[in-house]
Amino acid sequence: MAPRKPPPSPLRPCLQMKVDELFLRWLSDPGTQRALRAGLRRIQGPAVILDHTVTPNPATALDSATKAIAAPAKIAPPDPAVTPNPAAIASSTAITKFSASRKRNRHRAACCCPLYWKAPLFLAAGGGAQGGFVSARDIIGLWKPILLTCHDEAARFERLLGGPGDGGLSPEDLAPLVQDVADSHPGLSFLREAEPLRRDYVTTVTQRVFYAVNRSWSGRISCQEIRRSCFLQAVSQLEAEPNPGRATPSFFSYPHFCVIVSKFQALDADGDGLIDRHDLRRHADGAISSRMIDRIFSGAVTRARPSPEGGKMGLADFVWFLLSEEDKTTPTSTEYWFRCMDLDGDGVLSAPELSFFYEEQAQNLAARGAEPPPFADLTRQALDLVQPRCPGQITLGDLKRCGLAGEFFDAFFNADKFLEHERREPAGPVRAPDADPTLSDWDRFAAAEYDFLLAEEAQDDDAWEEGSESPPSSPDPYDFADDTLDPL
Ligand code: CA
Repeated sequence: MAPRKPPPSPLRPCLQMKVDELFLRWLSDPGTQRALRAGLRRIQGPAVILDHTVTPNPATALDSATKAIAAPAKIAPPDPAVTPNPAAIASSTAITKFSASRKRNRHRAACCCPLYWKAPLFLAAGGGAQGGFVSARDIIGLWKPILLTCHDEAARFERLLGGPGDGGLSPEDLAPLVQDVADSHPGLSFLREAEPLRRDYVTTVTQRVFYAVNRSWSGRISCQEIRRSCFLQAVSQLEAEPNPGRATPSFFSYPHFCVIVSKFQALDADGDGLIDRHDLRRHADGAISSRMIDRIFSGAVTRARPSPEGGKMGLADFVWFLLSEEDKTTPTSTEYWFRCMDLDGDGVLSAPELSFFYEEQAQNLAARGAEPPPFADLTRQALDLVQPRCPGQITLGDLKRCGLAGEFFDAFFNADKFLEHERREPAGPVRAPDADPTLSDWDRFAAAEYDFLLAEEAQDDDAWEEGSESPPSSPDPYDFADDTLDPL
């Protein structure tokens, strides 16, 4: 008896195979392909970027694509639960403009950033320092998270230049922005002619910004410090201001830069870009005591920045010195000199510390033909001036509160300025009666020194035209041409 074959299993429909077959048939249809291409274009367009936070439902995606053939696409109203902040919405629209632009400046404009954010934006998106290009996708990938997490301009600026969790901006983080201003601002075109000039401009401006903004002396500018300062306002003003010196505050002023660099070069006898304590001693005809110069080189005021190399000071530290010396009304200047005078670092200027500096000051006064007041008398006058909260203990807060810190400091380590204060009655800031009250002591000093530079330049030109001197054999990057010396 032959074995019986098992009955064939009944045919059963395979639902998955049927769905796949129908899907392939639908996908091959020319009408479907046209609809999918149209949908893809919309995904790459502005409307979908606006709605990127809404996750499509896979179950309805196919049905929606099919319906798109018959009916025009509608943009759903934004869901308040997933809508980002208003700035993000506005800028998301702007982001889509990147698709039509490959140029750095257009990228910047599409982000609604001030003009001179363009170099940091380009670098942060992956562009090289020497140029190259970044794609719109790179910019979108960079800028969109920033918009969604940083809710004001200061936060976006700090995140763009420093990256997430970077603990604030270092001078190196800020340098690309200043370098770009030097490279591309129409009012600074002459800087492009000499690399040393441009390099010193970047150093000077960067340190001026840190001097005014980095109130914590940490060496890194925090988001709160940016928010409290006028730096971003000054950067924005550069866009419409043909003369960078008119931006307020004057971080980018070329005349101010000229004054600082010319003072530094006058001390840098060997031209190696560094000065030692003997060089700095010659500043202002030796008016500042050598004990104070030694304190400056001790690191008391350079801890947050690169220490002077081998007992020498570069342009960056000189910027801090000159700003502090010529305008003792600023908080940073008061802190600068207080750190120098507080020898034991206990936060109080004691009688032994004042006496240490006054010993040499008395000798310098006598060398200038003046009779130095007795230390006890001077100390009593200083206490009357400062009015410390704790009798006999002068703190940093006392000096800031009294508003006459300049007079106090000059009495102990700057002989010429002390005599100048003594000639005036009553005590007050050193300024001419007709001086503009809106200008700071630094502004007045820089304007006077710049006029002096102009006069020197005119004398040199006259001497050359009279044939008494031969023209220089090589161009001097600091030989300021007439057209660069605009009034402040
Ligand atoms: Ca002390």
